[in-house]
Amino acid sequence: MKIVLLYGGRSAEHDVSILSAFSVLNAIYYDYYQVQLVFITKDGKWVKGPLLTEKPKNDSVLKLTWDTEDATGEIISPSTIKEENAVVFPLLHGPNGEDGTIQGFLETIDMPYIGAGVLTSACGMDKIMTKYILQAAGIPQVPYVPVLKNLWKENPKQIFEQCEGTLLYPMFVKPANMGSSVGISKAENREELQNALQEAYKYDTRAIVEQGIEAREIEVAILGNEDVRTTLAGEIVKDVAFYDYNSKYIDNQIVMQIPAEVTEDVQQKAQEFAKKAYVMLGGSGLSRCDFFLTNKNELFLNELNTMPGFTQYSMYPSLWEKMGLKYGDLIEELIQLALKRYEQRQ
Ligand code: ATP
Ligand code: MG
Ligand code: MG
Ligand code: MG
Repeated sequence: MKIVLLYGGRSAEHDVSILSAFSVLNAIYYDYYQVQLVFITKDGKWVKGPLLTEKPKNDSVLKLTWDTEDATGEIISPSTIKEENAVVFPLLHGPNGEDGTIQGFLETIDMPYIGAGVLTSACGMDKIMTKYILQAAGIPQVPYVPVLKNLWKENPKQIFEQCEGTLLYPMFVKPANMGSSVGISKAENREELQNALQEAYKYDTRAIVEQGIEAREIEVAILGNEDVRTTLAGEIVKDVAFYDYNSKYIDNQIVMQIPAEVTEDVQQKAQEFAKKAYVMLGGSGLSRCDFFLTNKNELFLNELNTMPGFTQYSMYPSLWEKMGLKYGDLIEELIQLALKRYEQRQ
């Protein structure tokens, strides 16, 4: 069977996807699978790479170029990836990859693929939609105000008043559709709130302002289609004001504590909320559910990432590893879940 590995992508999380892709190439079971590399450039071109039948010696195999003299890939039309006996692994993070767009395309060309479907991807990526759905499900979350760019432009004063009437400083301002903390800032006053909104609108016309809280951050990994399994929560132990892009990928300022040192009750609640959120959002394949935990042991669900960071050392695979599911076996399970969902829809 062939695995079509889609990586890179037209999003601010392009580089993160390449890291995840290399880990997958190192661990996939080549006795059963061949891997067709398909790189998506930052400007959205699809480049066909080599067909791998064994573990590559280094990551140079991923560095496809198409616009230089030593170009190593061929630009293809996306729909030409369609073939029988193949499963797509859309290992893409953020908009244009994790948000239902690629998933819709794969549905249209009728190929099985790993991870969440269209609806779950779109709602999970959009922080405003996620909040509405979790609210309906009665899952605790921090107070928030959705702020659409048009309304902000029309009447910024009204937006300030709405935020300040509902929330206290510090506030967290985020583009609704993004990941890896791109475009997120903390605002301590009105001036910072204004700058933070401007920053968020660089990435999306939809932004969300949230109540900033002092809290530990714990995460639960979820795996399955109808049969949903969760791991114990792990903690992101951080030495920084917030878990921003630099601390995630550049400075290595964080430590993962697995399992998190929390009470039995918190562990249970985190798993329960994660599972409920996943079911309410119609999840399949995988997701990583992120929480805030205050020093009063209050738990708030922050978000569900439908294609979490997937290097061998990322939180999602590490949580499963701790539960006894090795990285290579995890990939195998994801392939089987993709096939099952595909067969059920036929
Ligand atoms: P991911 O890489 O997990 O997809 P993301 O870009 O979707 O991240 P969030 O997880 O919502 O963004 O926020 C990024 C980080 O910002 C959090 O891990 C946390 O450190 C901080 N943060 C976000 N919202 C709040 C909040 N309301 N109060 C305090 N800190 C927050
Ligand atoms: Mg996220
Ligand atoms: Mg994310
Ligand atoms: Mg997060």
